[in-house]
Amino acid sequence: MSIDAAPESAETPKPSNFIRDIILQDLQNGKHGGRVHTRFPPEPNGYLHIGHAKSICLNFGLAQEFGGKCNLRFDDTNPSKEETEYVDSIIEDVRWLGFDWEDRLFYASDYFEQLHDWAVQLIRAGKAFVCDLTAEQVREYRGTPNEPGKESPYRNRSVEENLDLFARMRAGEFPDGSRTLRTKIDMASPNFNLRDPVMYRILHAEHHRTGNQWCIYPMYDYTHGESDSIEGITHSICTLEFEDHRPLYDWYVENLGIHHPQQIEFDRLNLTNTMLSKRKLLMLVQKGIVSGWNDPRMPTLSGMRRRGYSPEAIRQFCANIGVSKTNGIIEFSLLEYYLREDLNARAARVMAVVDPIKVIIDNYPEGETEQLEAVNHPDHPEMGNRLVPFSKTLYIERDDFREDPPKQYYRLSPGREVRLRYAYFITCQRVVKDPVTGEVLEIHCTYDPATRGGNAPDGRKVKSTIHWVSAEHALDMEARIYENLFLAEGGGDDDFLASLNPNSLVKMAGKIEPSVRTAPAGTRYQFERVGYFCIDPDSSPAGLVFNRTVALRDTWAKIDKAQKPKG
Ligand code: ATP
Ligand code: MG
Repeated sequence: MSIDAAPESAETPKPSNFIRDIILQDLQNGKHGGRVHTRFPPEPNGYLHIGHAKSICLNFGLAQEFGGKCNLRFDDTNPSKEETEYVDSIIEDVRWLGFDWEDRLFYASDYFEQLHDWAVQLIRAGKAFVCDLTAEQVREYRGTPNEPGKESPYRNRSVEENLDLFARMRAGEFPDGSRTLRTKIDMASPNFNLRDPVMYRILHAEHHRTGNQWCIYPMYDYTHGESDSIEGITHSICTLEFEDHRPLYDWYVENLGIHHPQQIEFDRLNLTNTMLSKRKLLMLVQKGIVSGWNDPRMPTLSGMRRRGYSPEAIRQFCANIGVSKTNGIIEFSLLEYYLREDLNARAARVMAVVDPIKVIIDNYPEGETEQLEAVNHPDHPEMGNRLVPFSKTLYIERDDFREDPPKQYYRLSPGREVRLRYAYFITCQRVVKDPVTGEVLEIHCTYDPATRGGNAPDGRKVKSTIHWVSAEHALDMEARIYENLFLAEGGGDDDFLASLNPNSLVKMAGKIEPSVRTAPAGTRYQFERVGYFCIDPDSSPAGLVFNRTVALRDTWAKIDKAQKPKG
Protein backbone atom coordinates (compact mmCIF):
# COMPACT_ATOMS: atom_id res chain seq x y z
CA MET A 1 0.00 0.00 0.00
CA SER A 2 1.34 3.44 -0.77
CA ILE A 3 0.92 6.28 1.64
CA ASP A 4 -1.45 7.96 -0.81
CA ALA A 5 -3.97 5.23 -0.12
CA ALA A 6 -4.08 6.18 3.56
CA PRO A 7 -6.96 8.32 4.75
CA GLU A 8 -6.16 11.93 4.03
CA SER A 9 -7.76 13.21 7.22
CA ALA A 10 -5.05 11.93 9.52
CA GLU A 11 -2.20 13.70 7.72
CA THR A 12 -1.50 17.39 7.81
CA PRO A 13 1.16 19.17 5.71
CA LYS A 14 4.69 18.44 6.86
CA PRO A 15 6.72 21.35 8.20
CA SER A 16 9.95 22.00 6.33
CA ASN A 17 13.35 20.91 7.64
CA PHE A 18 17.01 21.40 6.79
CA ILE A 19 17.25 18.18 4.75
CA ARG A 20 14.26 19.16 2.67
CA ASP A 21 15.89 22.57 2.18
CA ILE A 22 19.12 20.94 0.94
CA ILE A 23 17.13 18.88 -1.55
CA LEU A 24 15.18 21.92 -2.73
CA GLN A 25 18.45 23.73 -3.34
CA ASP A 26 19.96 20.74 -5.16
CA LEU A 27 16.89 20.58 -7.39
CA GLN A 28 17.19 24.28 -8.09
CA ASN A 29 20.87 23.90 -9.00
CA GLY A 30 20.26 20.84 -11.14
CA LYS A 31 22.54 18.69 -8.99
CA HIS A 32 22.08 14.94 -9.69
CA GLY A 33 20.13 15.90 -12.82
CA GLY A 34 17.11 16.86 -10.75
CA ARG A 35 16.75 13.36 -9.31
CA VAL A 36 15.89 12.55 -5.71
CA HIS A 37 16.75 8.99 -4.73
CA THR A 38 17.00 7.95 -1.10
CA ARG A 39 17.17 4.62 0.71
CA PHE A 40 16.34 3.09 4.05
CA PRO A 41 19.26 0.81 5.00
CA PRO A 42 18.48 -1.39 8.03
CA GLU A 43 20.87 -4.02 9.28
CA PRO A 44 18.79 -7.21 9.67
CA ASN A 45 20.02 -7.87 13.21
CA GLY A 46 16.77 -7.11 15.03
CA TYR A 47 13.25 -5.79 14.59
CA LEU A 48 12.56 -2.19 13.62
CA HIS A 49 11.67 0.27 16.35
CA ILE A 50 10.02 3.68 16.47
CA GLY A 51 13.44 5.32 15.88
CA HIS A 52 13.67 3.53 12.56
CA ALA A 53 10.18 4.82 11.74
CA LYS A 54 11.58 8.34 11.86
CA SER A 55 14.22 7.39 9.30
CA ILE A 56 11.71 5.49 7.13
CA CYS A 57 9.23 8.36 7.09
CA LEU A 58 12.00 10.80 6.26
CA ASN A 59 13.57 8.78 3.45
CA PHE A 60 10.36 7.56 1.83
CA GLY A 61 8.57 10.82 2.58
CA LEU A 62 11.16 13.01 0.84
CA ALA A 63 11.26 10.73 -2.19
CA GLN A 64 7.48 10.84 -2.42
CA GLU A 65 7.32 14.57 -2.04
CA PHE A 66 9.81 15.22 -4.83
CA GLY A 67 8.64 12.54 -7.24
CA GLY A 68 11.75 10.50 -6.48
CA LYS A 69 12.46 6.96 -5.37
CA CYS A 70 13.38 5.30 -2.13
CA ASN A 71 15.02 1.88 -1.94
CA LEU A 72 14.84 -0.64 0.84
CA ARG A 73 18.33 -2.02 1.31
CA PHE A 74 19.50 -4.54 3.85
CA ASP A 75 22.93 -3.65 5.13
CA ASP A 76 23.85 -7.27 5.71
CA THR A 77 27.61 -7.35 6.16
CA ASN A 78 27.77 -9.03 9.56
CA PRO A 79 26.74 -12.69 9.13
CA SER A 80 27.13 -13.53 12.80
CA LYS A 81 24.22 -11.33 13.88
CA GLU A 82 21.89 -11.34 10.91
CA GLU A 83 18.93 -13.59 10.22
CA THR A 84 16.15 -14.01 7.68
CA GLU A 85 13.59 -13.70 10.49
CA TYR A 86 14.73 -10.10 10.84
CA VAL A 87 14.65 -9.51 7.08
CA ASP A 88 11.06 -10.73 6.93
CA SER A 89 9.95 -8.65 9.90
CA ILE A 90 11.55 -5.51 8.48
CA ILE A 91 9.80 -5.98 5.13
CA GLU A 92 6.48 -6.46 6.91
CA ASP A 93 6.98 -3.42 9.15
CA VAL A 94 7.98 -0.97 6.41
CA ARG A 95 4.92 -2.07 4.38
CA TRP A 96 2.70 -1.71 7.42
CA LEU A 97 3.97 1.82 7.96
CA GLY A 98 2.59 2.49 4.50
CA PHE A 99 5.61 2.67 2.22
CA ASP A 100 6.43 1.01 -1.06
CA TRP A 101 9.88 0.38 -2.54
CA GLU A 102 8.33 -1.12 -5.72
CA ASP A 103 10.95 -3.41 -7.27
CA ARG A 104 13.84 -1.83 -5.39
CA LEU A 105 14.53 -4.29 -2.60
CA PHE A 106 18.30 -4.68 -2.35
CA TYR A 107 20.91 -6.34 -0.18
CA ALA A 108 24.45 -5.08 0.35
CA SER A 109 25.41 -8.74 0.03
CA ASP A 110 24.31 -8.56 -3.62
CA TYR A 111 27.27 -6.25 -4.11
CA PHE A 112 29.95 -8.42 -2.48
CA GLU A 113 31.60 -9.25 -5.83
CA GLN A 114 31.65 -5.61 -6.93
CA LEU A 115 32.93 -4.48 -3.54
CA HIS A 116 35.68 -7.06 -3.77
CA ASP A 117 36.65 -5.84 -7.24
CA TRP A 118 36.80 -2.26 -6.03
CA ALA A 119 39.00 -3.35 -3.13
CA VAL A 120 41.37 -4.93 -5.66
CA GLN A 121 41.28 -1.64 -7.58
CA LEU A 122 42.35 0.26 -4.46
CA ILE A 123 45.15 -2.27 -3.81
CA ARG A 124 46.40 -1.80 -7.39
CA ALA A 125 46.36 1.96 -6.88
CA GLY A 126 48.50 1.53 -3.77
CA LYS A 127 45.64 2.73 -1.56
CA ALA A 128 44.93 -0.47 0.36
CA PHE A 129 47.11 -3.10 2.01
CA VAL A 130 46.85 -6.40 3.82
CA CYS A 131 47.75 -5.98 7.47
CA ASP A 132 48.79 -8.79 9.82
CA LEU A 133 48.22 -6.89 13.06
CA THR A 134 45.64 -8.37 15.41
CA ALA A 135 42.52 -6.38 16.24
CA GLU A 136 44.08 -5.40 19.55
CA GLN A 137 47.29 -4.24 17.90
CA VAL A 138 45.33 -2.24 15.34
CA ARG A 139 43.66 -0.47 18.26
CA GLU A 140 47.02 0.22 19.91
CA TYR A 141 48.51 1.61 16.71
CA ARG A 142 45.43 3.80 16.26
CA GLY A 143 46.76 6.37 18.78
CA THR A 144 44.60 8.69 20.87
CA PRO A 145 42.67 11.85 20.07
CA ASN A 146 45.75 13.88 21.05
CA GLU A 147 48.42 11.63 19.57
CA PRO A 148 48.84 10.53 15.98
CA GLY A 149 48.69 6.80 15.35
CA LYS A 150 51.60 4.62 14.24
CA GLU A 151 51.79 3.17 10.80
CA SER A 152 51.39 -0.56 10.50
CA PRO A 153 54.67 -2.38 9.74
CA TYR A 154 52.79 -4.03 6.85
CA ARG A 155 51.73 -0.75 5.30
CA ASN A 156 54.42 -0.75 2.65
CA ARG A 157 53.89 -4.20 1.23
CA SER A 158 54.15 -4.32 -2.55
CA VAL A 159 51.03 -4.27 -4.68
CA GLU A 160 51.83 -7.84 -5.82
CA GLU A 161 52.14 -9.13 -2.28
CA ASN A 162 48.90 -7.39 -1.28
CA LEU A 163 47.02 -8.82 -4.27
CA ASP A 164 48.32 -12.28 -3.47
CA LEU A 165 47.48 -12.09 0.24
CA PHE A 166 44.02 -10.64 -0.40
CA ALA A 167 43.28 -13.42 -2.88
CA ARG A 168 44.37 -15.97 -0.29
CA MET A 169 42.25 -14.28 2.38
CA ARG A 170 39.29 -14.74 0.07
CA ALA A 171 40.28 -18.32 -0.67
CA GLY A 172 40.00 -19.17 3.01
CA GLU A 173 43.69 -19.82 3.73
CA PHE A 174 43.80 -17.79 6.94
CA PRO A 175 41.95 -18.04 10.24
CA ASP A 176 39.48 -15.47 11.54
CA GLY A 177 41.08 -12.27 12.72
CA SER A 178 44.56 -13.09 11.45
CA ARG A 179 44.63 -10.45 8.72
CA THR A 180 42.63 -7.49 7.47
CA LEU A 181 42.56 -5.39 4.36
CA ARG A 182 43.11 -1.77 5.34
CA THR A 183 42.80 1.50 3.52
CA LYS A 184 45.98 3.57 3.31
CA ILE A 185 44.87 7.06 4.27
CA ASP A 186 46.52 8.96 7.14
CA MET A 187 47.56 7.64 10.55
CA ALA A 188 48.02 11.22 11.77
CA SER A 189 44.55 12.43 10.78
CA PRO A 190 42.68 14.11 13.64
CA ASN A 191 39.72 12.03 12.47
CA PHE A 192 40.13 8.46 13.75
CA ASN A 193 38.00 7.13 10.93
CA LEU A 194 40.75 8.10 8.47
CA ARG A 195 43.58 6.33 10.33
CA ASP A 196 43.92 3.47 7.85
CA PRO A 197 40.46 2.02 8.49
CA VAL A 198 39.81 -1.68 8.02
CA MET A 199 37.92 -2.53 4.81
CA TYR A 200 37.73 -6.32 5.05
CA ARG A 201 37.98 -8.83 7.85
CA ILE A 202 38.21 -12.61 7.80
CA LEU A 203 35.16 -14.34 9.21
CA HIS A 204 34.39 -17.96 8.48
CA ALA A 205 30.67 -17.65 9.07
CA GLU A 206 27.60 -18.60 7.12
CA HIS A 207 25.76 -15.63 5.69
CA HIS A 208 21.94 -15.61 5.56
CA ARG A 209 22.04 -15.06 1.78
CA THR A 210 25.50 -15.90 0.43
CA GLY A 211 25.92 -19.01 2.56
CA ASN A 212 29.56 -20.11 2.68
CA GLN A 213 30.55 -18.33 -0.51
CA TRP A 214 32.59 -15.75 1.39
CA CYS A 215 34.92 -15.88 4.36
CA ILE A 216 35.92 -12.23 4.08
CA TYR A 217 33.31 -9.57 4.79
CA PRO A 218 33.45 -5.84 4.01
CA MET A 219 33.16 -3.36 6.87
CA TYR A 220 30.14 -1.10 7.20
CA ASP A 221 31.96 2.10 6.23
CA TYR A 222 33.33 0.58 3.08
CA THR A 223 30.05 -1.08 2.13
CA HIS A 224 27.61 1.67 2.81
CA GLY A 225 28.70 4.45 0.49
CA GLU A 226 29.59 2.02 -2.28
CA SER A 227 26.11 0.45 -2.09
CA ASP A 228 24.59 3.94 -2.21
CA SER A 229 26.70 4.70 -5.24
CA ILE A 230 25.75 1.50 -7.07
CA GLU A 231 22.06 2.31 -6.54
CA GLY A 232 22.46 5.89 -7.75
CA ILE A 233 21.38 7.31 -4.41
CA THR A 234 21.44 11.11 -4.42
CA HIS A 235 20.92 11.89 -0.74
CA SER A 236 22.22 9.36 1.78
CA ILE A 237 20.41 10.32 4.94
CA CYS A 238 21.71 8.84 8.20
CA THR A 239 21.93 9.60 11.89
CA LEU A 240 24.37 11.98 13.55
CA GLU A 241 26.82 9.37 14.83
CA PHE A 242 27.96 8.98 11.22
CA GLU A 243 28.96 12.63 10.87
CA ASP A 244 32.64 11.79 11.59
CA HIS A 245 32.45 8.98 9.07
CA ARG A 246 31.46 11.29 6.23
CA PRO A 247 35.10 12.10 5.22
CA LEU A 248 35.67 8.36 4.82
CA TYR A 249 32.41 7.94 2.89
CA ASP A 250 33.61 10.71 0.57
CA TRP A 251 37.15 9.29 0.38
CA TYR A 252 35.98 5.91 -0.89
CA VAL A 253 33.69 7.17 -3.65
CA GLU A 254 36.23 9.78 -4.75
CA ASN A 255 39.16 7.37 -4.84
CA LEU A 256 37.11 4.80 -6.71
CA GLY A 257 35.87 7.48 -9.08
CA ILE A 258 32.23 6.41 -8.81
CA HIS A 259 28.91 8.27 -8.41
CA HIS A 260 29.06 10.41 -5.28
CA PRO A 261 25.89 10.55 -3.17
CA GLN A 262 25.70 13.26 -0.53
CA GLN A 263 25.63 12.02 3.05
CA ILE A 264 23.41 14.11 5.32
CA GLU A 265 23.11 13.45 9.06
CA PHE A 266 20.13 14.09 11.33
CA ASP A 267 19.32 13.50 15.01
CA ARG A 268 18.33 10.06 16.28
CA LEU A 269 14.96 9.78 17.90
CA ASN A 270 15.10 9.28 21.66
CA LEU A 271 11.90 8.89 23.69
CA THR A 272 11.45 9.24 27.43
CA ASN A 273 11.32 5.96 29.41
CA THR A 274 12.04 4.06 26.22
CA MET A 275 14.98 1.96 25.07
CA LEU A 276 15.80 2.32 21.38
CA SER A 277 18.77 0.06 20.82
CA LYS A 278 18.36 -3.20 18.96
CA ARG A 279 21.14 -4.76 21.00
CA LYS A 280 19.40 -4.01 24.29
CA LEU A 281 15.95 -4.89 22.96
CA LEU A 282 17.39 -8.25 21.92
CA MET A 283 18.55 -8.73 25.53
CA LEU A 284 15.00 -8.14 26.77
CA VAL A 285 13.80 -10.85 24.39
CA GLN A 286 16.59 -13.29 25.22
CA LYS A 287 16.21 -12.88 28.97
CA GLY A 288 12.44 -13.44 28.68
CA ILE A 289 11.66 -10.05 30.20
CA VAL A 290 9.21 -9.56 27.36
CA SER A 291 7.30 -12.23 25.43
CA GLY A 292 9.11 -11.47 22.17
CA TRP A 293 10.05 -8.69 19.77
CA ASN A 294 6.33 -8.01 19.31
CA ASP A 295 5.46 -7.82 22.99
CA PRO A 296 3.04 -4.86 23.14
CA ARG A 297 5.38 -3.10 25.58
CA MET A 298 8.25 -3.11 23.10
CA PRO A 299 8.99 0.11 21.19
CA THR A 300 9.26 -2.01 18.06
CA LEU A 301 6.88 -1.43 15.18
CA SER A 302 5.62 -5.00 15.55
CA GLY A 303 5.03 -4.45 19.27
CA MET A 304 3.25 -1.18 18.65
CA ARG A 305 1.14 -2.75 15.90
CA ARG A 306 0.08 -5.52 18.27
CA ARG A 307 -0.64 -2.95 20.94
CA GLY A 308 -2.99 -1.15 18.54
CA TYR A 309 -0.91 1.78 17.29
CA SER A 310 -1.89 2.89 13.81
CA PRO A 311 0.61 3.61 11.05
CA GLU A 312 -1.16 6.92 10.50
CA ALA A 313 -0.44 8.01 14.08
CA ILE A 314 3.22 7.02 13.83
CA ARG A 315 3.64 8.84 10.51
CA GLN A 316 1.97 11.92 11.91
CA PHE A 317 4.26 11.83 14.94
CA CYS A 318 7.36 11.45 12.76
CA ALA A 319 6.29 14.28 10.50
CA ASN A 320 5.80 16.61 13.42
CA ILE A 321 8.91 15.94 15.50
CA GLY A 322 11.01 17.20 12.57
CA VAL A 323 14.73 16.66 12.14
CA SER A 324 17.67 18.62 13.48
CA LYS A 325 21.41 18.54 14.00
CA THR A 326 21.34 18.00 17.77
CA ASN A 327 20.21 14.94 19.67
CA GLY A 328 17.44 15.47 22.17
CA ILE A 329 14.75 13.47 23.90
CA ILE A 330 11.07 13.57 22.97
CA GLU A 331 8.30 13.01 25.50
CA PHE A 332 6.59 9.68 25.02
CA SER A 333 3.33 11.49 25.68
CA LEU A 334 3.76 13.30 22.36
CA LEU A 335 3.57 10.00 20.52
CA GLU A 336 0.49 9.15 22.58
CA TYR A 337 -1.04 12.48 21.68
CA TYR A 338 -0.92 11.67 17.96
CA LEU A 339 -2.16 8.18 18.70
CA ARG A 340 -5.21 9.48 20.56
CA GLU A 341 -5.95 12.01 17.85
CA ASP A 342 -6.04 9.28 15.24
CA LEU A 343 -7.87 6.67 17.31
CA ASN A 344 -10.40 9.18 18.55
CA ALA A 345 -11.27 10.00 14.97
CA ARG A 346 -11.62 6.40 13.84
CA ALA A 347 -12.12 3.82 16.57
CA ALA A 348 -15.62 2.48 17.14
CA ARG A 349 -17.00 2.93 20.64
CA VAL A 350 -18.07 0.03 22.82
CA MET A 351 -18.83 -0.44 26.49
CA ALA A 352 -16.48 -2.61 28.51
CA VAL A 353 -15.77 -2.82 32.21
CA VAL A 354 -12.16 -3.45 33.08
CA ASP A 355 -12.56 -3.82 36.84
CA PRO A 356 -16.15 -5.02 37.35
CA ILE A 357 -18.45 -4.70 40.33
CA LYS A 358 -22.01 -6.00 40.27
CA VAL A 359 -25.06 -3.72 40.17
CA ILE A 360 -28.54 -5.14 40.74
CA ILE A 361 -31.57 -3.10 39.67
CA ASP A 362 -34.05 -4.17 42.32
CA ASN A 363 -37.18 -2.85 40.57
CA TYR A 364 -36.26 -4.21 37.11
CA PRO A 365 -38.27 -7.30 36.11
CA GLU A 366 -36.50 -10.59 36.66
CA GLY A 367 -35.58 -12.41 33.45
CA GLU A 368 -36.25 -9.47 31.13
CA THR A 369 -33.81 -8.23 28.47
CA GLU A 370 -34.07 -5.02 26.46
CA GLN A 371 -31.97 -4.06 23.45
CA LEU A 372 -30.92 -0.45 23.74
CA GLU A 373 -29.55 1.56 20.88
CA ALA A 374 -25.97 2.82 21.14
CA VAL A 375 -23.98 5.05 18.81
CA ASN A 376 -20.80 3.56 17.28
CA HIS A 377 -19.05 6.90 16.87
CA PRO A 378 -20.34 10.28 18.03
CA ASP A 379 -18.83 12.13 15.02
CA HIS A 380 -19.50 9.55 12.33
CA PRO A 381 -23.19 8.74 11.93
CA GLU A 382 -22.22 6.63 8.91
CA MET A 383 -20.58 4.18 11.32
CA GLY A 384 -24.09 3.39 12.47
CA ASN A 385 -25.68 2.22 15.69
CA ARG A 386 -25.80 -1.08 17.49
CA LEU A 387 -28.03 -2.71 20.09
CA VAL A 388 -26.71 -3.35 23.57
CA PRO A 389 -28.54 -5.75 25.89
CA PHE A 390 -29.75 -4.46 29.25
CA SER A 391 -31.02 -6.58 32.13
CA LYS A 392 -31.50 -6.67 35.88
CA THR A 393 -27.90 -7.48 36.77
CA LEU A 394 -25.11 -5.33 35.40
CA TYR A 395 -21.44 -4.66 35.89
CA ILE A 396 -19.98 -1.22 36.27
CA GLU A 397 -16.42 -0.09 36.90
CA ARG A 398 -15.42 -0.57 40.56
CA ASP A 399 -14.01 2.91 40.46
CA ASP A 400 -17.37 4.39 39.46
CA PHE A 401 -18.75 3.70 42.93
CA ARG A 402 -17.70 5.13 46.29
CA GLU A 403 -19.43 4.33 49.52
CA ASP A 404 -18.07 7.55 51.03
CA PRO A 405 -17.65 9.82 48.07
CA PRO A 406 -15.10 12.59 48.43
CA LYS A 407 -16.12 16.11 47.55
CA GLN A 408 -16.50 16.55 43.80
CA TYR A 409 -17.03 12.85 43.24
CA TYR A 410 -20.23 12.76 41.19
CA ARG A 411 -20.45 9.15 40.19
CA LEU A 412 -22.47 6.44 41.93
CA SER A 413 -22.73 6.50 45.73
CA PRO A 414 -25.49 5.73 48.26
CA GLY A 415 -28.57 7.86 47.52
CA ARG A 416 -27.02 9.36 44.36
CA GLU A 417 -28.70 9.21 40.93
CA VAL A 418 -26.54 8.78 37.80
CA ARG A 419 -27.16 7.99 34.14
CA LEU A 420 -26.27 4.62 32.68
CA ARG A 421 -25.06 5.43 29.19
CA TYR A 422 -27.76 4.78 26.53
CA ALA A 423 -29.98 3.26 29.25
CA TYR A 424 -31.65 4.67 32.35
CA PHE A 425 -31.15 6.83 35.40
CA ILE A 426 -30.42 4.67 38.43
CA THR A 427 -30.22 5.52 42.12
CA CYS A 428 -28.09 3.63 44.58
CA GLN A 429 -30.17 2.27 47.47
CA ARG A 430 -27.82 0.04 49.43
CA VAL A 431 -24.77 -2.19 49.21
CA VAL A 432 -24.07 -5.79 50.17
CA LYS A 433 -20.69 -6.35 51.77
CA ASP A 434 -18.53 -9.33 52.51
CA PRO A 435 -19.12 -9.86 56.24
CA VAL A 436 -15.46 -10.67 56.84
CA THR A 437 -13.53 -8.25 54.67
CA GLY A 438 -16.08 -5.48 54.39
CA GLU A 439 -15.53 -5.36 50.65
CA VAL A 440 -18.55 -4.18 48.64
CA LEU A 441 -19.85 -7.16 46.66
CA GLU A 442 -23.10 -5.82 45.19
CA ILE A 443 -24.60 -2.43 44.67
CA HIS A 444 -28.39 -2.39 44.76
CA CYS A 445 -30.14 0.32 42.79
CA THR A 446 -33.53 1.29 41.48
CA TYR A 447 -34.12 2.60 37.98
CA ASP A 448 -36.59 5.10 36.63
CA PRO A 449 -38.41 3.47 33.66
CA ALA A 450 -39.34 6.94 32.36
CA THR A 451 -35.65 7.71 31.60
CA ARG A 452 -35.19 5.06 28.90
CA GLY A 453 -32.48 6.19 26.47
CA GLY A 454 -30.90 8.33 29.18
CA ASN A 455 -33.13 11.39 29.46
CA ALA A 456 -35.64 12.36 32.11
CA PRO A 457 -38.96 13.68 30.74
CA ASP A 458 -39.23 16.02 33.72
CA GLY A 459 -35.92 17.58 32.71
CA ARG A 460 -34.04 16.64 35.88
CA LYS A 461 -30.29 16.39 35.52
CA VAL A 462 -27.64 14.05 36.83
CA LYS A 463 -24.01 15.02 37.18
CA SER A 464 -22.52 11.83 35.86
CA THR A 465 -22.91 9.22 33.12
CA ILE A 466 -21.27 5.85 33.58
CA HIS A 467 -20.84 2.83 31.36
CA TRP A 468 -22.03 -0.69 32.10
CA VAL A 469 -22.54 -4.14 30.65
CA SER A 470 -25.29 -6.67 31.24
CA ALA A 471 -23.92 -9.49 33.43
CA GLU A 472 -25.83 -12.21 31.65
CA HIS A 473 -24.85 -11.06 28.17
CA ALA A 474 -21.37 -9.68 28.64
CA LEU A 475 -18.34 -11.59 27.39
CA ASP A 476 -15.41 -12.30 29.65
CA MET A 477 -12.22 -10.68 28.56
CA GLU A 478 -8.70 -10.15 29.72
CA ALA A 479 -7.64 -6.51 29.54
CA ARG A 480 -3.89 -6.07 29.44
CA ILE A 481 -2.94 -2.70 30.81
CA TYR A 482 0.55 -1.49 29.92
CA GLU A 483 2.96 1.10 31.17
CA ASN A 484 6.45 1.97 29.94
CA LEU A 485 8.98 -0.82 30.39
CA PHE A 486 11.45 1.51 32.07
CA LEU A 487 11.11 3.83 35.02
CA ALA A 488 14.21 5.90 34.25
CA GLU A 489 13.47 8.78 31.92
CA GLY A 490 16.47 8.03 29.75
CA GLY A 491 15.42 4.37 29.49
CA GLY A 492 18.09 3.43 32.04
CA ASP A 493 21.10 3.51 29.65
CA ASP A 494 23.72 0.95 30.65
CA ASP A 495 21.94 0.01 33.82
CA PHE A 496 18.69 -0.40 31.96
CA LEU A 497 17.75 -3.72 33.52
CA ALA A 498 17.78 -2.09 36.95
CA SER A 499 15.21 0.42 35.78
CA LEU A 500 12.54 -2.08 34.70
CA ASN A 501 9.00 -1.06 35.65
CA PRO A 502 7.40 -3.93 37.65
CA ASN A 503 3.94 -2.67 36.61
CA SER A 504 4.57 -2.59 32.88
CA LEU A 505 1.88 -5.25 32.40
CA VAL A 506 -1.21 -5.72 34.57
CA LYS A 507 -3.89 -8.19 33.52
CA MET A 508 -7.48 -7.42 34.47
CA ALA A 509 -10.41 -9.82 34.25
CA GLY A 510 -13.04 -7.64 32.60
CA LYS A 511 -16.42 -7.81 30.89
CA ILE A 512 -17.41 -6.47 27.50
CA GLU A 513 -20.63 -6.05 25.54
CA PRO A 514 -21.33 -8.94 23.15
CA SER A 515 -21.10 -6.93 19.90
CA VAL A 516 -17.33 -7.54 19.68
CA ARG A 517 -17.72 -11.32 19.69
CA THR A 518 -16.63 -11.93 16.11
CA ALA A 519 -14.21 -9.04 15.57
CA PRO A 520 -10.79 -10.16 14.30
CA ALA A 521 -7.46 -9.62 16.04
CA GLY A 522 -6.18 -6.13 15.45
CA THR A 523 -9.61 -4.47 15.69
CA ARG A 524 -9.35 -1.20 17.60
CA TYR A 525 -12.02 0.19 19.90
CA GLN A 526 -12.55 2.97 22.28
CA PHE A 527 -13.87 1.47 25.49
CA GLU A 528 -16.07 4.38 26.49
CA ARG A 529 -14.58 6.39 29.34
CA VAL A 530 -11.69 3.92 29.72
CA GLY A 531 -9.28 4.05 26.82
CA TYR A 532 -8.34 2.69 23.42
CA PHE A 533 -8.02 -1.06 23.16
CA CYS A 534 -7.11 -3.50 20.44
CA ILE A 535 -7.82 -7.22 20.12
CA ASP A 536 -4.64 -9.22 20.68
CA PRO A 537 -3.70 -12.14 18.41
CA ASP A 538 -3.80 -14.34 21.56
CA SER A 539 -7.53 -13.68 21.62
CA SER A 540 -10.17 -16.29 20.77
CA PRO A 541 -13.97 -16.31 21.04
CA ALA A 542 -13.53 -18.42 24.17
CA GLY A 543 -10.98 -16.08 25.70
CA LEU A 544 -11.01 -12.52 24.46
CA VAL A 545 -7.80 -10.59 25.05
CA PHE A 546 -7.57 -6.84 24.67
CA ASN A 547 -4.44 -4.71 24.78
CA ARG A 548 -4.81 -1.23 26.10
CA THR A 549 -3.28 0.86 23.36
CA VAL A 550 -3.42 4.09 25.30
CA ALA A 551 -5.53 5.59 28.05
CA LEU A 552 -8.09 8.23 27.14
CA ARG A 553 -6.09 11.00 28.74
CA ASP A 554 -2.49 11.02 29.78
CA THR A 555 -3.51 12.16 33.25
CA TRP A 556 -5.29 8.86 33.85
CA ALA A 557 -2.54 7.29 35.88
CA LYS A 558 -1.28 10.39 37.60
CA ILE A 559 -4.32 12.18 38.94
CA ASP A 560 -6.49 10.70 41.65
CA LYS A 561 -9.61 9.97 39.71
CA ALA A 562 -11.72 11.22 42.58
CA GLN A 563 -10.33 14.67 41.92
CA LYS A 564 -11.24 14.53 38.29
CA PRO A 565 -14.87 13.77 37.57
CA LYS A 566 -15.39 12.25 34.18
CA GLY A 567 -18.75 12.20 32.48
P1 ATP B 1 20.21 0.41 16.79
O1 ATP B 1 21.10 1.34 17.53
O2 ATP B 1 18.83 0.34 17.33
O3 ATP B 1 20.82 -0.93 16.60
P2 ATP B 1 21.04 1.08 14.16
O4 ATP B 1 21.30 2.48 13.77
O5 ATP B 1 22.20 0.21 14.35
O6 ATP B 1 20.03 1.09 15.37
P3 ATP B 1 20.24 0.23 11.58
O7 ATP B 1 19.55 -1.00 11.18
O8 ATP B 1 21.64 0.39 11.17
O9 ATP B 1 20.09 0.38 13.13
O10 ATP B 1 19.38 1.49 11.15
C1 ATP B 1 18.83 1.69 9.89
C2 ATP B 1 18.60 3.16 9.71
O11 ATP B 1 17.75 3.66 10.73
C3 ATP B 1 19.90 3.92 9.81
O12 ATP B 1 19.95 4.86 8.77
C4 ATP B 1 19.83 4.58 11.15
O13 ATP B 1 20.53 5.78 11.14
C5 ATP B 1 18.32 4.77 11.35
N1 ATP B 1 18.00 4.79 12.78
C6 ATP B 1 18.27 3.85 13.69
N2 ATP B 1 17.87 4.23 14.92
C7 ATP B 1 17.32 5.47 14.77
C8 ATP B 1 16.72 6.41 15.67
N3 ATP B 1 16.62 6.17 16.98
N4 ATP B 1 16.27 7.57 15.16
C9 ATP B 1 16.36 7.82 13.84
N5 ATP B 1 16.91 6.98 12.94
C10 ATP B 1 17.39 5.82 13.40
MG1 MG C 1 23.59 0.13 12.59
